[in-house]
Amino acid sequence: MLYKSTRGKGKVVKASEAIIKGIAEDGGLYIPDKFPKITRSFEELGNMSYQELALYIMKKYFDDFSDEELKDCIDRAYDEKFENSQIAPLVYKSGAYFLELYHGSTLAFKDMALSVLPHLLKTAAKKLGVEKEVVILTATSGDTGKAALEGFHDVDGTKIIVFYPEHGVSEIQRRQMITQEGENTFVVGIEGNFDDAQSGVKDIFADKEFNENLNEKGYMFSSANSINIGRLVPQIVYYVYSYVSLLKNKKIKDGESINVVVPTGNFGNILAAFYAKQMGVNIGKFICASNENKVLTDFINTGIYDRKRDFSVTNSPSMDILISSNLERFLYEISDRNEELINIFMKQLKEEGKYEITKIMKENLKGLYGDFATEQETIEAVKKVYETSNYVIDTHTAVAYQVYERYKQNTGDESVTVIASTASPFKFPKSINEVLNFADKNASEFEMIQSLSKEMKLEIPKGIRGLDKKEIRHSVNCEKYEMREVIKKFLRI
Ligand SMILES: *Cc1c(COP(=O)(O)O)cnc(C)c1O
Repeated sequence: MLYKSTRGKGKVVKASEAIIKGIAEDGGLYIPDKFPKITRSFEELGNMSYQELALYIMKKYFDDFSDEELKDCIDRAYDEKFENSQIAPLVYKSGAYFLELYHGSTLAFKDMALSVLPHLLKTAAKKLGVEKEVVILTATSGDTGKAALEGFHDVDGTKIIVFYPEHGVSEIQRRQMITQEGENTFVVGIEGNFDDAQSGVKDIFADKEFNENLNEKGYMFSSANSINIGRLVPQIVYYVYSYVSLLKNKKIKDGESINVVVPTGNFGNILAAFYAKQMGVNIGKFICASNENKVLTDFINTGIYDRKRDFSVTNSPSMDILISSNLERFLYEISDRNEELINIFMKQLKEEGKYEITKIMKENLKGLYGDFATEQETIEAVKKVYETSNYVIDTHTAVAYQVYERYKQNTGDESVTVIASTASPFKFPKSINEVLNFADKNASEFEMIQSLSKEMKLEIPKGIRGLDKKEIRHSVNCEKYEMREVIKKFLRI
């Protein structure tokens, strides 16, 4: 299996190199030269544990890793850190299957990939004889940052730097990051939104001079964002896992297709579902749910991607994004792998903030359905699911649920549906409390967590227990144009 850049100019590399580099030299994203197929029966896959299935799927993409190496990475990732032994349980509530992806250490689905990425990266570095210290540079809309910090803290041979929008994350998310332990960790709040952080990081990756200077000092950059193929592939596993579990439990028949609904920001999670389909999983519709930053909804409905609009800070902050990086990989597929077109679109996006895809590509968008939920609709959806099923979902999952409800009304499609449940409600207690009223509305977020726990008879997840009492270890803030200086200071170069 080889990986090449969506923009066609970088060199073709093996999986280990693609993981180490994170992003291709020409600024494009690495994509597998072809999609591997699932060759074992779904029945066989249905009898595997999550870890066994992860090995089967990941080996197809990372074929320059030995079975032992991959198994070791997987066993270190999906262990007791996950508070549910199934790792990604599927629960039926209010007319849909919620795929709970938030039982890892930071309470969001980012753990599904970021608990394994550090091990993949370390193994890849060893295989390639990389002697430089790997510096993970990450922009976060709230959840990636903490999940990456948890994954990389105290991992030998690595340092991790996280930039988060100072005023764009929830209180719990911020606390999780600024209390991070580990000598190799560095957390910085930037004045700006997620897109500023992400484009700043991408510019630094593409800055030859800066990278050369770093190389001379014994460092190299890599990425923990979902532009790294080492993050995308582990996310395919849970879509395969859901499908084979539904089949095994006779919720669907042989060959029956399912729909998936994914609350979307950077387009990584939904892209993983698309990759699962290319491998042979029978997925009918990909329902892409956005919040008020509905650039993707408009794109799916018009074929025009236009980021020139106001950025809203919403109650589903991890989806407050106007530039969805992974869409580039999807455009590549629906353009029949046309590198020239991708270069044109990405240039237009950078220079004019906008592009329009071709007629044929618009045809190829048909499997995708896009809609959005307002903040009010989001909390109403939390309430509705609670009232019908006594089940509490977080705001991101609620965006998906609301979009799904409207999809059913509009289309009458009653296919079995899996909703990606991307965060624990404990992570966004303030928004949840607005409709569930378990605690006084003036209570602190930590008091709200206590009330949620008490009312729902759910234990407070380990990842946030005692968070309010943890020592604050990171207090650096900077402007977007200061990111390079801040990095230099941290690395002492
Ligand atoms: C990151 C995140 C999303 C968006 O996922 P993408 O892969 O960026 O589309 C949705 N919900 C939560 C809770 C997240 O942390």
